[in-house]
Amino acid sequence: MNQLRSYLFSVVAVAAMMVVPAQAQEVNETKLTEGVYMLEGQGGTMMLVTTETRTVLIDAQYAQMAERIGAKVGELGHVPLTYLINTHFHGDHVGGNGYMGSELGAKIIAHKNVRTRLEADEDFDAAGLPTILADNSLTLDLGGHTLTLVHYPTAHTDGDMVIWVEGENIVHLGDLFFVDRFPFIDLSAGGTVQGFIDAIADLLVLLQDDTQIVAGHGGLASKRDLQRVHDMIVATQQQVKDWQAAGAGVDNMVDTGLAEEWESWSWNFINEDRWIRTLYNDLNPRSE
Ligand SMILES: [Zn+2]
Repeated sequence: MNQLRSYLFSVVAVAAMMVVPAQAQEVNETKLTEGVYMLEGQGGTMMLVTTETRTVLIDAQYAQMAERIGAKVGELGHVPLTYLINTHFHGDHVGGNGYMGSELGAKIIAHKNVRTRLEADEDFDAAGLPTILADNSLTLDLGGHTLTLVHYPTAHTDGDMVIWVEGENIVHLGDLFFVDRFPFIDLSAGGTVQGFIDAIADLLVLLQDDTQIVAGHGGLASKRDLQRVHDMIVATQQQVKDWQAAGAGVDNMVDTGLAEEWESWSWNFINEDRWIRTLYNDLNPRSE
């Protein structure tokens, strides 16, 4: 039953992430440094990096946002879109892939597991499949800016890549970072709670106090914000371990609830109930 529930939750969670609001929204930019912008619209936060010879977009939200995103890229970019990088395969980050590939002619870059997962989805527009595939890491010299992509293998999914803008103290963490919210960890797609904690711990060593961090959900944030996420996950995971050691079932855990200090981390997608079940299901994986 727990196994089934875990599976159903994952399917429902991903489906919820794919729900597209009725109307497209504006795309707003925040300049991070010369030629580097954070873009926000509807879905995962994007980043644009443009030089005299290359323009790169990181993530592409939903299909219905694609034209507006494309217009913003045209407005800010020094040259037409060269590459689109996907931080991972979820629908609120790859929905605009087809448009960026077929209409704007961008080459699409992602971790190889992203390609595998998108290929398995028969509803996904084949024009939006990544064709440049990274494994552990990849460096892109854009002539003026250099991007380094680094894979974290078992965090939010099995295909997460973070993107550093070298020498600029800027990084896009994709969905390894939900600011002040319980994170979505996609256990059905290779994500794990420990892998998520380890990825954040690894990043905290590399980040500086004044690094500009683009979070997949929550916009521009700081190392201190990420430390808070780390501490929340470690504390709540320990709580679930303690409850389990004392013989409680997951429904008892949900009924008891987490300490009051974590109440504000609930949001419409991952509320406290779902977060506790994620922690529990991660510790008690279904056997396959
Ligand atoms: Zn995601």
